[in-house]
Amino acid sequence: MRIYLFSARNLKRNMVLAAVPVLAAAAFTSVLTRQPAVVVPTLTEHSGIVYRVKTEEPVAALTFDISWGEKVPPPVLDILDREAVKCTFFLSGPWAVKHPEIARRIADDGHEVGSHGWRHENYSTFSDAVIKEEIAKAHRALKETTGRTPALIRTPNGDWNERVVKAISEAGYRAIQWSVDSLDWKDIGAKASTKRVLDQAGPGAIILMHASDSAEQTPDSLPGVIQGLKEKGYQLVTVSELLKHGRGVAE
Ligand SMILES: [Zn+2]
Repeated sequence: MRIYLFSARNLKRNMVLAAVPVLAAAAFTSVLTRQPAVVVPTLTEHSGIVYRVKTEEPVAALTFDISWGEKVPPPVLDILDREAVKCTFFLSGPWAVKHPEIARRIADDGHEVGSHGWRHENYSTFSDAVIKEEIAKAHRALKETTGRTPALIRTPNGDWNERVVKAISEAGYRAIQWSVDSLDWKDIGAKASTKRVLDQAGPGAIILMHASDSAEQTPDSLPGVIQGLKEKGYQLVTVSELLKHGRGVAE
């Protein structure tokens, strides 16, 4: 089950297989009730869980998760300000409540506010109802502290399965993963982290970074990441903006 969960290819195949009886039932129901059949996602729609955006254009999104601390976020915001780059920040609810002035600055600086949920625990261990409660609790906190209405979530630890994604979309959110992991959370060194991102980033990439105090090296690696991507001709945008450039895909 574990392996199955993390294989995008298997997941896709199973989702297609799972869709067959659902579609058949929907078609049958619509005949009986003369109601239009359920809306089937088309190939132009974003996946419920997005790892990257399919595009040929040189666009990418830097994303930052924050769940604790107050030392790393301000220098990160200063660098983004200096480089005139807008990003997506996934903020945990309790962090925003504890640091409302930093949360507010993120929004005021023009960055996109996403949710990193409430408790930093794996959603696959929660019931659907609890997942929705966690999301709603964080949603209220982020709305109060930032004045924004988040619609994107990065689940704690990036943990998910099909049921989690369904509960998330029923809560009005889209789950955002990443296609490039800076490994800044592993403290691999600023230079190594910058090189990793520059080597792996491609068109439509979603780049995972952290601005929690545990990711002390982020302010050191970030300028190189931004400059390197700019030199390669990349335009850096928020995740919502990136999703306008192509289909968000789960692979
Ligand atoms: Zn996290």
